[in-house]
Amino acid sequence: MDDHGTCPHCSADMNGEGVYEHFLKEYGGDHEKALETASMYGAGETNGRFGREIYVKSYDKSYNKLKPYFQCPDCGGKFDSLNR
Ligand SMILES: [Zn+2]
Repeated sequence: MDDHGTCPHCSADMNGEGVYEHFLKEYGGDHEKALETASMYGAGETNGRFGREIYVKSYDKSYNKLKPYFQCPDCGGKFDSLNR
């Protein structure tokens, strides 16, 4: 998933850091290790990106699974799907 779209409430960009770039930084520039870890996220050197949206899974009082939703980290707005 490369395009996370925008928040339907405040139009904030939900695209985060590139997965490969993230691990490249974490591993101090080790390309092979970064690529290996990125591939576990289904990402490659030039594709795959973390989203800024927060995925929320919850239960009601009787422990029934509620429909999961996304939450915007900027405005706190809830939405079912991302605006693309
Ligand atoms: Zn928002």
